[in-house]
Amino acid sequence: MSRDQALAAIEDYYASGSFEAQLARRIYFKTESNLPNCDDALQAYLDDDIIPYLSDMGFTCNVYPNPRKDAGPFLVAQRFESDDLPTVMTYGHGDVVAGYDDQWDNKMSPWHITKVGQRWYGRGTADNKGQHTINLAALKTVLDTRGKLGFNVTVLIEMGEERGSPGLKDFCAAHKDLFDADVFIASDGPRIQPENPTIFMGSRGVFNFTMRLDSHSGGHHSGNWGGLLTNPGVIMAHALASMIDRNGKILVDGWRNTHIPNSVRDAIAKLEVGGGENTPEINSNWGEPDMTVAERVFASNTFEVRAFETGNPKSPANAIPPSAIVFGHLRYVVGTDITQLMPLLRTHLDQNDFNDIKITSERDPMHATRLDPNHPWAKWVVKSLAQTADGEISVVPNLGGSLPNDVFADLLGLPTIWVPHSYAGCSQHAPNEHILESISQSALRLMTGLWWDLGEGSTPKKAS
Ligand SMILES: [Zn+2]
Repeated sequence: MSRDQALAAIEDYYASGSFEAQLARRIYFKTESNLPNCDDALQAYLDDDIIPYLSDMGFTCNVYPNPRKDAGPFLVAQRFESDDLPTVMTYGHGDVVAGYDDQWDNKMSPWHITKVGQRWYGRGTADNKGQHTINLAALKTVLDTRGKLGFNVTVLIEMGEERGSPGLKDFCAAHKDLFDADVFIASDGPRIQPENPTIFMGSRGVFNFTMRLDSHSGGHHSGNWGGLLTNPGVIMAHALASMIDRNGKILVDGWRNTHIPNSVRDAIAKLEVGGGENTPEINSNWGEPDMTVAERVFASNTFEVRAFETGNPKSPANAIPPSAIVFGHLRYVVGTDITQLMPLLRTHLDQNDFNDIKITSERDPMHATRLDPNHPWAKWVVKSLAQTADGEISVVPNLGGSLPNDVFADLLGLPTIWVPHSYAGCSQHAPNEHILESISQSALRLMTGLWWDLGEGSTPKKAS
């Protein structure tokens, strides 16, 4: 039995309509984890579909309740062949965001697949049911073709990712022994360009905080008090202007990241960002100076004002407002010490005479992670994918956006490699979510080749 036979088998699986049928069954479960009363659907997705599917493949399946009472369960499924073989951990999430049923074009239902040209519409097609359906089907194809995998697998399916993965970290910390593996390989998120097979190995972190200035108790008539009372909106605007210049360069001491390791710089140099349908034009003069456009989104820290309010914008009064509030955040890369972000901001504000502005940070920030593009597993995965694709693989050291990848990379200590099967225009989290036929077909082949190669005995050795 050969690699080519496995690839032919996965092409048949797609061409016969089996992939569509399988995905359609999974899309039909209304696993909207960010809505109330979704518990039955979350459980049913595992009990009625994923568990029978994996059990047939010889997996032992266990569902664990979430350590957080208000969040969905975890499925851990394991298929063990031998102590002498490598173990791969893979992951997917079976929950989706709300369907927004009446907002889809042409009255499409989010709970059925509607095919229009290259696009397959449906909630969860891209995020994440389509992606783990591809990976599991590829696994099954390798198993059917070879009669065994040639490696051990642990599958983790989470049912609360769209709510910010409540309980994921605690669950993995409590069950570390279940997740002892050589490598983590999973799929979520977009390719860098639809036609470019892509891997990414981590993500920027995100650190949310609030700045608040309470200057007066209640508003005051601007005719009587203008010129006599400070305006908190103006003071807050000056505070912001002291933190970031008009071209997006961060001015808070210690908040910028200017060091890029060479391996990361080399990988980023090959990436083309932006372009494509429904995407905004890049403002090339915005952001960290002396960095390329791609370095700005993948290798720099960026500060955003997410919301800013003073007075009542819906009904402006002729008055001096009592307060101003800013919701800000920093997307940050590996190498940034997040425990210092608030103290550094406090120092900055104090030094610039903004002592009255109070700052608070949100709990549980998502941490930054990144596997070195020169890591043996990263190179091994790229080689396998390139063989199947017969072309270049885009290597993104870390996504610009954020993922709970620190659970796998830092807590479980695994080399983490993501092979995304979607694209930036997929309308994930919005009405009209879809995947592209061309990517699904290519992804089924890439993952089949990858799982095949894992069982061939030439994987990197585990660091002890
Ligand atoms: Zn999502």
